[in-house]
Amino acid sequence: MTTSQAAFLKQLLEHGILIDMGVDGLYGRSGVFEDVVERFSILVAGFGRDDKAEVIRFPPGMSRGQFESSGYMKSFPQLAGTVHSFSGNDHQHADLIANIEAGKDWTDGQKATDVVLTPAACYPLYPVIAKRGILPQQGGLFDLHSYCFRHEPSIDPARMQMFRMREYVRIGTPEQVLDFRQSWLERGEQLMRSLGVPVVLDVANDPFFGRAGKLLSNNQRDQKLKFELLIPITSEENPTACLSFNYHQDHFGTKWGLCTCADTVAHTACVGFGMERVALALFKHHGLDVTTWPRPVRKLLWGD
Ligand code: AMP
Ligand code: ZN
Repeated sequence: MTTSQAAFLKQLLEHGILIDMGVDGLYGRSGVFEDVVERFSILVAGFGRDDKAEVIRFPPGMSRGQFESSGYMKSFPQLAGTVHSFSGNDHQHADLIANIEAGKDWTDGQKATDVVLTPAACYPLYPVIAKRGILPQQGGLFDLHSYCFRHEPSIDPARMQMFRMREYVRIGTPEQVLDFRQSWLERGEQLMRSLGVPVVLDVANDPFFGRAGKLLSNNQRDQKLKFELLIPITSEENPTACLSFNYHQDHFGTKWGLCTCADTVAHTACVGFGMERVALALFKHHGLDVTTWPRPVRKLLWGD
């Protein structure tokens, strides 16, 4: 936590751009904020249009069974959010109400449902595509956009618990997915530069949990499996990852039995746009009043 994070959050709340909901990292969004997110989404779609990705929209929850199979809990147990629900009898209901009224813990009897909150927009996709059978020769390309949940409460407005990720996901041969990632590394940087924000591209790693996770993080960095496009939002020294470019090798392909037409395990890669982070970066660099944003930026986003 830094004072500049607290100060930027205060500004956003005072201007009604974000709306306090009583939990760190959970905010309402104003119409203006949503407009920026929507315009940016349209701009991204324009950059990707010629690729003709298949558009799929999933709700912000996924199958618990598929989530378990994905191995997410091995890597990021600290971030996961599961949906629990009451399934007791009248007596247990009375206890529950009494506990709530007494300000005691009432969640003990809550039982896990078949739904968990989506941790990254691409997680529900792989089992769906695997179920379709062998991939066509050109592989697959998908356009996703979903609210995601990560349990990382923070007063940094750029670190939310519920936020949107727009993703393009490529499934195919290693060459196909690496070409895809390379092209988005270039497009992503060009796209963000055209919006007048300072960017730095860097090798990155996911926040794998625990001591064993250190090895995974080092391996990810050594093999350059993850890049991030960083933009300063609340700190010049520690800019924020706004776009991610991930090469999963055959991790999801093996897990879900994704097969290329040559009957080899498919490789996967995804590019993720943190929609709230991009919007916040624009508010930070161009000001809280969108009508005064630089002309070229307004032209790109609103066409005026
Ligand atoms: P990741 O799967 O961690 O690479 O996340 C994909 C993108 O989602 C990142 O590049 C960020 O822009 C965004 N993102 C990740 N975590 C958060 C968060 N806690 N709050 C807002 N955006 C996030
Ligand atoms: Zn992804």
